Amino acid sequence: MITAVHEAARDTIEVGAAAGAYPVFVGPDLLDQLPAVLSAYASAHRVAVISDDEVGPIHGASVARRLVDAGHEVTFLTFPAGEASKTRKSWSILTDDMLKAGLGRDCVVVAVGGGVTTDLAGFVAATYLRGVPVVHVPTSTLAMIDASVGGKTGVDVHAGKNLVGAFHAPSAVVVDTTVLATLERARRAEGLVEALKHGAIRDEAHFSMVMERTESLVAAEPMTCAEVVAASVRLKAEIVAQDEFEGGVRQMLNFGHTIGHAIEAAADYRIGHGRAVACGMIAEARLGEGLGITETGTAARLSEALAPLTDRGRVDVDGTRARQALAADKKSRDGRPRFVLLRRIGEVARDVGWTHEVDDDTAHAVLDAVVGGW
Ligand code: NAD
Repeated sequence: MITAVHEAARDTIEVGAAAGAYPVFVGPDLLDQLPAVLSAYASAHRVAVISDDEVGPIHGASVARRLVDAGHEVTFLTFPAGEASKTRKSWSILTDDMLKAGLGRDCVVVAVGGGVTTDLAGFVAATYLRGVPVVHVPTSTLAMIDASVGGKTGVDVHAGKNLVGAFHAPSAVVVDTTVLATLERARRAEGLVEALKHGAIRDEAHFSMVMERTESLVAAEPMTCAEVVAASVRLKAEIVAQDEFEGGVRQMLNFGHTIGHAIEAAADYRIGHGRAVACGMIAEARLGEGLGITETGTAARLSEALAPLTDRGRVDVDGTRARQALAADKKSRDGRPRFVLLRRIGEVARDVGWTHEVDDDTAHAVLDAVVGGW
């Protein structure tokens, strides 16, 4: 039966993980393969399908129906859409609902949605009865390219983004690129920021490929999306397989995220993750250029590639809160933020390790400048 899944997928990427390697199936029209994927990689009679209340009625319900038709007992749970729901409160409601439904350790969580859903439902799976398997069915460009792969799960807290969470690798990931047709165009575009990031840190050819295909990607052309998602997942998989728990090379995936997360937190998460990371990538490239570490012109190339994907205008945030969030970043040491810096597009600078300490004045200057628009 699993041979049929491999045949149906345009690409299958194996991701190495301590708990066992897992496949990421990528291609158009893959949702029908979900029951077969479950029986091969996360066999369980009872399934909790978790979606937000926008994706739930469109894709969550159709996933649940397929699983019921295949003989599973399904508990279908939703939460209000948006980053504001990626909280301990949502986690407690979902886990209480699962307990009420009597789901035992032999259940599996199927997360159907964007990155908020894969992070939140992944954290539910990581902690429910000390851990049950999770299968991700990402429905946003960002979740397909990035959030569903690598096993990072968690929630946001007042002090900052993703500050409470766990590593919990999925048992399998099913990426059906036809579901992107229902995602707003602007969100499809923003999700591609992370694909450009993968190219910027690791592979200049990938960066150029995403730039060249931007129009068909934003138009949700399923085969082009499958090609680019698979290539991006392959780059991320190579990195996380080497360093699942972020002691070394995985830190490079945080390029653009030190400043990006600070902007998101200061904006109370009313700004899209992709837009915040785009600001972060520009600011951190400027930072590197200013320090003589990043090749001159890198920020301008990033700006050219990112401009069709997201709003470049002023971001409405409180500067003091952004600085506080910067100091609370997970990579900070002694309250000083640390940054992944590029050498050039396709390569990260490693002069002093994966991250560089930068003095507060310099960091605040690039933060303030990018918040004003780029
Ligand atoms: P999201 O999950 O909030 O989705 C954005 C919006 O699009 C939501 O309103 C959602 O309901 C809607 N949506 C999603 N798919 C849809 C579809 N196919 N049709 C119609 N509507 C759809 O946000 P996101 O941008 O997908 O993800 C952002 C989150 O991902 C952030 O919390 C970020 O921290 C996280 N993230 C995690 C990792 C990781 O490694 N764990 C990596 C990158 C980002």
